[in-house]
Amino acid sequence: MIIMKTDATQEQVDGVIKEVKRRGLRVDVSRGRYKTIIGLIGDERKIPFDYLAALPGVKEAVRVETRYKLISREYTKFSEEVSEQRVIKVGNVEIGGEELIIIAGPCAVESKAQLFKIAEEVKKAGAHILRGGIFKPRSSVYSFQGLGAEGWEEAVGASRWLQEAGKKFNMPVITEIRGEAQVDLVAEYADILQVGARNMYNQDLLTKVAKKKKPVLFKRHFGAGIEEFLSFAEYIAAGGNKDIILCERGIIPIGKGREYTRYTLDLASVPAIQKETYLPVIVDPSHATGRRDLIFNMSCAAVAAGASGLMIEVHYNPAEALVDGQQMIAPDELKNIIDTCKEIQKLVASRKAEAKALS
Ligand code: PEP
Ligand code: MN
Repeated sequence: MIIMKTDATQEQVDGVIKEVKRRGLRVDVSRGRYKTIIGLIGDERKIPFDYLAALPGVKEAVRVETRYKLISREYTKFSEEVSEQRVIKVGNVEIGGEELIIIAGPCAVESKAQLFKIAEEVKKAGAHILRGGIFKPRSSVYSFQGLGAEGWEEAVGASRWLQEAGKKFNMPVITEIRGEAQVDLVAEYADILQVGARNMYNQDLLTKVAKKKKPVLFKRHFGAGIEEFLSFAEYIAAGGNKDIILCERGIIPIGKGREYTRYTLDLASVPAIQKETYLPVIVDPSHATGRRDLIFNMSCAAVAAGASGLMIEVHYNPAEALVDGQQMIAPDELKNIIDTCKEIQKLVASRKAEAKALS
């Protein structure tokens, strides 16, 4: 990371960038009101730090050891562009701000009527963002893959419904991009681009998604450690986009646990990740547990753990859902969860602030 002097000229900044690029690295330039920071992306062993530190206009050349520099808390110490907590604005919703943000909707978009009915109900319950899968990642090739799998026209049609439903009920919308071929389509219609757990390691997809400059909801793979999760989020930041919402959605359960919950919801990851990065962290209790009867408790627990938001699957009649019916809750229950979680969040936030003031 190269920290320029406050009076460094553009020419001097360009000079440093040229030296870095000459050695085959890329840069992340963060221009603040007072100073410019040049983050180095690539193999830093190729960089003679002493030489760069001596270039005109350079204040300091610091080697940052972490594998996720651009999204790290350490970065906030130098850069004015990133603050201690990133607040991502999507329409009139702020993710990472003071308000607890609820993303809700069906697992899959099944029809226009289904989507609009659920959209209306989740909005009434207090949700902020509408979700609905068009390209579903499924373990079996014989199960419903989402309307997107039925043909390009169907994929475009479902994307339009999602956009229309969002406009009608005044909610930004999110849907998953399962492969590179879907990036352009989804980015045209959705406000937030979701990269699912199974694609966490797909660096080509992450780089392509980053280029769309739209907020990305990035889910942790069920076999990934926290460092891996953050290292792959770094691909999105290195691709030029720091509007990343991290989502904990459960990891592989051990032993017989598998019989009781779909995954093991790793809630300690929420405050642990927050210690490492300024990005907002949300929790998906639906895919983590796979059980409707556990969503209330795990939502409360996630908010107590410090999550900035929740992603919850909802259906007016879960029994008729084509995907994930067993974990979908009814809109009434969503309302109860939102009301309760808001109270928990306020309590935790105020006690945390009190403790901080005392320390
Ligand atoms: C989803 O949110 O629709 C989904 C498939 O989740 P995950 O990638 O966490 O399994
Ligand atoms: Mn689902």
